[in-house]
Amino acid sequence: MDLKRTHNIGMLNASSKGQKVIVGGWVEDLRELGKLTFLTVRDVTGVAQIVVVGEDNIKQVKDLNRQSVIRITGTVQDTKSRDFTFEIKSEKIEILSRAVHPLPIDPIGRLESNIDNRLNARALDLRNQRTLSIFKIRHHALQSIRKTLVDLGFIEVNTPKIIGSASEGGANLFSLKYFDKQAYLAQSPQLYKEQLTVGLERVFEIASFYRAEKSHTVRHLTEFTSVDIEADFMDYLDVAEVLETIVANVFEHIEKNCETEQKILEIDVKRPKTPFERITYKQAIEELGREGISLEYGDDLLDSHLRKLGEIHSGFYFLIDWPMKLKPFYIHEKDDDPLLSKSFDLQYGYLELSSGGRRLHDPNKIRARLTEQGLDPSQFEDHLRAFDWGMPPHSGWGLGLDRLMSVLTRIDNVREVVLYPRDPERLFP
Ligand code: ATP
Ligand code: MN
Repeated sequence: MDLKRTHNIGMLNASSKGQKVIVGGWVEDLRELGKLTFLTVRDVTGVAQIVVVGEDNIKQVKDLNRQSVIRITGTVQDTKSRDFTFEIKSEKIEILSRAVHPLPIDPIGRLESNIDNRLNARALDLRNQRTLSIFKIRHHALQSIRKTLVDLGFIEVNTPKIIGSASEGGANLFSLKYFDKQAYLAQSPQLYKEQLTVGLERVFEIASFYRAEKSHTVRHLTEFTSVDIEADFMDYLDVAEVLETIVANVFEHIEKNCETEQKILEIDVKRPKTPFERITYKQAIEELGREGISLEYGDDLLDSHLRKLGEIHSGFYFLIDWPMKLKPFYIHEKDDDPLLSKSFDLQYGYLELSSGGRRLHDPNKIRARLTEQGLDPSQFEDHLRAFDWGMPPHSGWGLGLDRLMSVLTRIDNVREVVLYPRDPERLFP
């Protein structure tokens, strides 16, 4: 059977009148008006009204369940409908696949389905125009991120997700049986991306990473997508600027390329003003102090503190120059104050989107920091070898794509912007 279509529905409009077309998609609606039968058929690009003519055709579609897949051969003509600018008069209708009712959710969204039911039927949920819009925007965001990084000379890489040692020491690694060995799922590409600056200079990776944390929040998943970069000959504020450019470009790209999706989601995406505000950790502590939250210099900022900061600073801002003791072993100290680090978080209000910084490139300093943090330098010798091979000074960051998507679409729960989210409770589908 021939499966070809001459057009995606979105390619057709009022000026296509008179054209003979073959389109295909799923039946969203079916109405009989007197002697006439109308179908509303959708593909991923758009929706069209089909006038079913011919006794055989009418008989075929009479008991057809909504969401079934059909192919229509017909001619584009004027319509009297107020919802469409054209319609297709059918000459031939082929039923390619029947939907079996009752369906688990109503993808038209006439009946509101709760998030669990929608996630349990995610593939069908994508026929809901709101859900579809989210994932079209995600696709565009990824395209824009790749373009900005490639334009800046970064090389895209893929690092292993199955790793043999607990790379950053962390207790939040998933372990798995790897034949007769013990292995882990990578929580970040940190060590690999740093090593890769030796040969590739500036790298980026967009991939899933894994955290065995029993967090029940709208911003944590056990599997999340991270955009990571590492760049030699750049200091921490240089890579912060790269991050700012990427984020601003994503917003501009969506503003310009996703008009329909914005309308459906009732959002108005605009390129944010750059540069984003840079607030030092010290300033943040002082600001919180003025709000009656007294923190010791050196304390970590907890969720409640970030919520307060997010009230003071809406939108994007960087929190820079964190105390060394709050940062992982690979972070570089500041030249003028060894207790502070060349580090930053990118925030959107209360929400952390990214962490980054300048990295140590002197292996002996790294060994000392590992010991200081109670980690065993001998466990890191595979990694530290690369620092004797001419390791260039470098900086980088990791950006949570799912969190960025949540800011872009103004949907708080990251589960909504991930196709098949994984959290402590959810392992299927
Ligand atoms: P948080 O404090 O919010 O748990 P983190 O500081 O542990 O995040 P990093 O190790 O700095 O996270 O990871 C870099 C970025 O990756 C974060 O800023 C965030 O955007 C994203 N990220 C980290 N963990 C998760 C997660 N469990 N789910 C979704 N995104 C995450
Ligand atoms: Mn962080």
